[in-house]
Parts: sequence; structure tokens; C-alpha cells
Amino acid sequence: MIKAVRGTRDLLPPDTALWNFVENATRDVFRLYNYREIRTPIFEQTQLFARSVGEETDIVSKEMFTWEDRGRAESENTQSLTLRPEATAGIVRAYIEHDLNRTGLLQRLYMIGPMFRRERPQKGRYRQFFQIDAEVIGPPTAGSESPSVDAELLEMLATFLERIGITGCTLELNSVGCANDRPKYNEALRAALAKDLDKMCEDCRRRAVTNPLRVLDCKVPEDQPIIAKLPRMLDYLDESCRQHFQAVRDLLAAVNVPYVVNARLVRGLDYYTRTAFEFTHGALGAQNAILGGGRYDGLSESLGGPKAPGIGFAIGEDRLVLALSKTAEELSTPPDAYIAPLGAGMDREAARLARELRKRGIVVELGDESFRLKKSLETASKIGARYAVIVGENEVKANAFALKNLATGAQVTVPRAELADKIRQ
Ligand code: AMP
Repeated sequence: MIKAVRGTRDLLPPDTALWNFVENATRDVFRLYNYREIRTPIFEQTQLFARSVGEETDIVSKEMFTWEDRGRAESENTQSLTLRPEATAGIVRAYIEHDLNRTGLLQRLYMIGPMFRRERPQKGRYRQFFQIDAEVIGPPTAGSESPSVDAELLEMLATFLERIGITGCTLELNSVGCANDRPKYNEALRAALAKDLDKMCEDCRRRAVTNPLRVLDCKVPEDQPIIAKLPRMLDYLDESCRQHFQAVRDLLAAVNVPYVVNARLVRGLDYYTRTAFEFTHGALGAQNAILGGGRYDGLSESLGGPKAPGIGFAIGEDRLVLALSKTAEELSTPPDAYIAPLGAGMDREAARLARELRKRGIVVELGDESFRLKKSLETASKIGARYAVIVGENEVKANAFALKNLATGAQVTVPRAELADKIRQ
């Protein structure tokens, strides 16, 4: 038997009702904030991720699904392509490619789709997983650097989580500074790391030289006591980053969105500047981050684009669905009626009636004339239909149909024209 590849999975009904619920709420809530949908390709040139997410990150150095694409013609060069491990890089690439800066406005964009990382699969961690991603990008003249953009985005997330009934989430907030204060902090990190480096894992030893901030992202348990004592980015912020962070905090207080400052939060991607955040959820165990994001003021320029500061987040949809208290059964809507054709030639009549009812908005499942009445009624009950409509020769002649309420067993004859209203009652 051929099975789904390790780390990938099928989402089956009724569980897909949970996914639809989350995605419908996403569209409804994000609409209130004037976000619009963007869809970018599932694969991109490898260098896009290497340059944005960062060569030293776990994602780029260990987890990408990358292949050499030959091209069809002999003359075409091979190129290295990668299944997207995250959404921001592709969206910023599209922003630059289509020159969205020329609008002079903030672009509030969102995307829902699969991402791919070669991680060790476990509960809540997959190799193909879904993210709900949102970004606010624009030229500085549009206000893209303003702390009010950060606070509004965080408030939207709090509203969204509340809307889908997720409680018990903690917003963890930090500022990771900017290109101006980062070198000083990197220096402080290197100095603090120097004495303990020989006790740390190989990745940390390398990263201490190439990209010390990444050391804070290390998950090796033996390294944690050393990491806990390292200097905090918050103590190295320059004046404008400090003020920016304070303004975000003040605005969050003004709109009543609770948070905790987590000075160790760095996130696993290199492009972040200033505001960085995660929403964590206690019930999720080891993989407790339901979503994460932050500012990326230099990302567009580092990809050869214009100055277009931005901020965004990615919600892990798989984990969000795990944290829902609603059940798939609660959210599934069974059909209103099951149409039971009775006897030879009745499939045609049943199909006509089903079409009429569906035009009136009735959810209908169609049976088959080869079924005996008993089997039709059993099927109608199994699929959870509220009514069975019996379509036999006599009914067709009378243009009125037997309508059986499957919960009570009561049966009435209803003229064709009144059937939809009767079923809807
Ligand atoms: P990141 O892009 O790493 O900041 O991840 C954003 C969110 O995506 C995380 O908070 C998780 O909820 C989710 N996520 C990341 N990696 C995985 C994965 N391998 N499987 C399932 N969800 C993931």
C-alpha cells in the first residue's frame, strides 16, 4: 500500500469542518481590518529564502526541500528551487516584483496555504503544514514604521483568537532592535559567549562567530543555562527602538490587549527587526507556539527592493485547529434532505426535484432507484439528514411527495411547490 509521506497527512471530513471554520473566521476578521488576499507560488528560487530567512537559520541550513530544476530546453540553465518554508519572503518578493510601493499606501495582505520544512515529525509538527500569514508593508511615507501598525496587528490577532474561541493564549513580546543597535549587541553576545563557548553545541560555536543572535534560538538543553545568562537585547536598544517598543506597549495597554515581555524571544528567522512576538498556548505541549511574527524593516531592501518596512505574522493552522475547543461534529452541517427514488425510472424524477430544491438553497443528497425504501431511509438517517423525500410513481403523478421527518418518523404529503419551504421550517 502506498501511504502519505512521513510528516504529511490527509485532512478528512468531518475534521475539515474545523479548518473551514478557522479559515472563514480569518477572512471575516481580517476583512474588518481591510486586509486583502494574496496568493504566491508554492516554490520559489532557493536564494530568496537564503537571503531573507538567513543562511544560519535552522530553516535554511537544515529544513528546506530543495532541488535542482533542469529546465526544459538544453539552453536553459539549471536553477535551484525550494518549496516555500514560510510565506513572508514570497510576499515581499511579489511586493517588489509588482512595484506595490508605487501605490504610496500600506498594503495589508494575507495568505492561507501549505508550507514545507524537513523537521522531525511529532504532534503539532509536520513537514507539510498550513499557515495563515498576514503582512502590512508600505513605504515609510504611508506610516509603515509606526508602532500603531504593530499594535493594530497584535490587536487583530487577539480579536481573531477570541472570535474562534481560543482562550488561555499568552502574547509574548520583545524588541530585537535594528541594524543600528544590533552590532553592539552582537559584540556583547560574543564577549559573553567567549568563556563558555567550548561547553556549547557545535551549532552555537559556529553561530557565535557568524550570527550570535541565533545562539539564543538554540534548543539543546545543556546550552540553556549559559544562554539564560547572556545579555538581553532590550538593554542594547538605541533610543528610537526603545521609544518604538514603548509606544507599542502603550498602545496595547490602550486597547486592552494583555502581553508579557519575553526578553529571550528572538524567533527563528533572521529578517526580524524591532517588534518580535509569539502567542503561546499551554495545552499544546512542546510545540506551544501557535503563531509568531515581527517587524522586518530592512527585508525589502535586502532583496533589492525599495525601502518598504513591514510587519507580519504566521499562524500555524494545524496547531490552531488542535487548540480549538469546538468539535468537528459541532461544526459539521448535515444535509437537509435525502431524496429517495423508489422504483425504475425514478432516478430522473429525483434528479429534477433535487435540482429544484438546491436552487432554493436546500442541501440535498440524492439516493438511487435501485435501493429499497428501507435501505434509503437507513442511509438518510446515517448521513444525518433531517428529512427523507420519497419519489415514487404515485408521487410524481400527484406532483406531491412524501416527506418523512427522520427524527420523529412523522410523514406528510407536500405539494412540489411547497416542499422547499416545508423542509426549511
Ligand atoms: P515560524 O514561521 O517558524 O515563525 O512559524 C510560525 C508558526 O507556524 C508557528 O508558531 C507554528 O504554529 C507553525 N509551524 C511552524 N513550523 C511548523 C511545523 N513544522 N508544523 C506545524 N506547524 C508549524
